[in-house]
Amino acid sequence: MLDLIKLRKKLHTLAEISGKEIKTKSLLKEILEKFKPDRLEEMCGSLIAVFDSAKKGRNIAFRADMDALPVGESNVFSHRSKDPRTAHLCGHDGHSTTLIGLAEHISQNRPRKGRAVLIFQSAEETGEGAKALIADPEFKKLKIDEFYGFHNIPGCESGTVLYREGVFASASVGMIIEFEGKNSHASQPENGISPVTALTELIKFVQDVTAGKISRFSSKVLISIVGVKAGGRDFGVNPGDGELDLTLRAFENRDIKKIKELIVSKAGETAKKHGLQFNIRYLEEFPSVENDSGLVAKLKKICAKNSFKTKKISLPFFWSEDFAYYNKIGSAVFFGIGSGTDQLPLHNKSYDYPDEILSFSVSLFSHLYDLSDDL
Ligand SMILES: [Zn+2]
Ligand SMILES: [Zn+2]
Repeated sequence: MLDLIKLRKKLHTLAEISGKEIKTKSLLKEILEKFKPDRLEEMCGSLIAVFDSAKKGRNIAFRADMDALPVGESNVFSHRSKDPRTAHLCGHDGHSTTLIGLAEHISQNRPRKGRAVLIFQSAEETGEGAKALIADPEFKKLKIDEFYGFHNIPGCESGTVLYREGVFASASVGMIIEFEGKNSHASQPENGISPVTALTELIKFVQDVTAGKISRFSSKVLISIVGVKAGGRDFGVNPGDGELDLTLRAFENRDIKKIKELIVSKAGETAKKHGLQFNIRYLEEFPSVENDSGLVAKLKKICAKNSFKTKKISLPFFWSEDFAYYNKIGSAVFFGIGSGTDQLPLHNKSYDYPDEILSFSVSLFSHLYDLSDDL
């Protein structure tokens, strides 16, 4: 049996940012080759292993992300990242290790019908990885019916399975609003068109939307003002252009749509009022993760049968996950695995994946795989 803890620590040392998981993929590929999948290839930067029975049946996929954050860690242990600017502070090293553990299990219990697909996914943190895969014709040909994935959840009892039907994690998107006017000498504002008043009006509007003064939403929403730009320390110049950067967050996709419409409309109105041009762009778009009730029932059944601890979360998590994109092409379930009440929060500079949940996570994935193959 493969030493999963050793592998997890090795992956931790190799931490690479989203879309650049070169050494990580190479190591995973080398290990996967030993398990003799029927196909092992790269698609859109992700590594895909397929165990194919060549018989008609349900096609199921298990996904783990493998990217790290562009942030250095403060840990000094021997398996710290070799790159001082990049570290596995979200535990994707642990997720990938879990999927390798499942690959070993599948290699010894190959599917009798349908196919099992293992997705070692690139670029989760930027929302690019899953989005690219679901648009890829080669990936579509795998005709995956069911997708399974999980995230480790610090602050929750180690090994507890956190689940929820419907929305599990929130939708979010980065919104960039640019105003373009004309700069002028600071003593002659009448000769320019400054975006500053428009920006302040739009900021007030955004705060009113968040406070629920403009419109009602179906559930929790949040708009974070992450950046405001106009001019600089050039005291003789009135700025000619400006920018407002927002992160929109909501439990429901429809609320994100509504916030976008409200802000686009207000930005247009404000630009017109002040004689400015405006432009809007979106980045890092994550739909909400919506769990299929049938797959949640399957997860609960396995947990009950094996006396695994479970906890139903009352509200969705307010963070986002690009696993959400798999909802668009198949049934999907995403769940949490508690990583310990004393575990540091995700993205903390001293975070390190708790190896004690590795064998449990592999066992849960393996049970999900076994049950699907038995059906
Ligand atoms: Zn993260
Ligand atoms: Zn993560």
